[in-house]
Amino acid sequence: MIRGSCLCGSIRYRTDEVVGPLGHCHCQMCGAAFSSVVAADQTTFRWEEGRELLSTFESSPGKWRWFCSRCGSQLISTRGSAADASPDSVLLRAGCIDSGYETPGVAHCWVESKARWHEITDELPQFERGFPGSPPGVEEP
Ligand SMILES: [Zn+2]
Ligand SMILES: [Zn+2]
Repeated sequence: MIRGSCLCGSIRYRTDEVVGPLGHCHCQMCGAAFSSVVAADQTTFRWEEGRELLSTFESSPGKWRWFCSRCGSQLISTRGSAADASPDSVLLRAGCIDSGYETPGVAHCWVESKARWHEITDELPQFERGFPGSPPGVEEP
């Protein structure tokens, strides 16, 4: 069981398992030097608390970023025709995972749009765009 929450603790989620590797996404839309993301099993993903505080932003067509309207934490992103429809995929923003997941990242993706002030200094593979052959959702943005 993987559990996560936002900075202020108002919103909590759970999911049974991940369905792909953890990657460090360097796309411009993630809003950081990189954002570590991992695809979750969308069939067992549940909001446990604070659903009413969630806001969404459609950063590209069909890509929804879910964040806490109180503290601003981005908890997940989904792919689907609408924010509230059952999504095709759920991508956990790993910074908000509290427990149940400890596997290190396997690669850097969207390195083509990496911040110029950030240098990747580890030996993990780097992909210009999304992961080749990754499950839906791991590819950003
Ligand atoms: Zn919050
Ligand atoms: Zn990204």
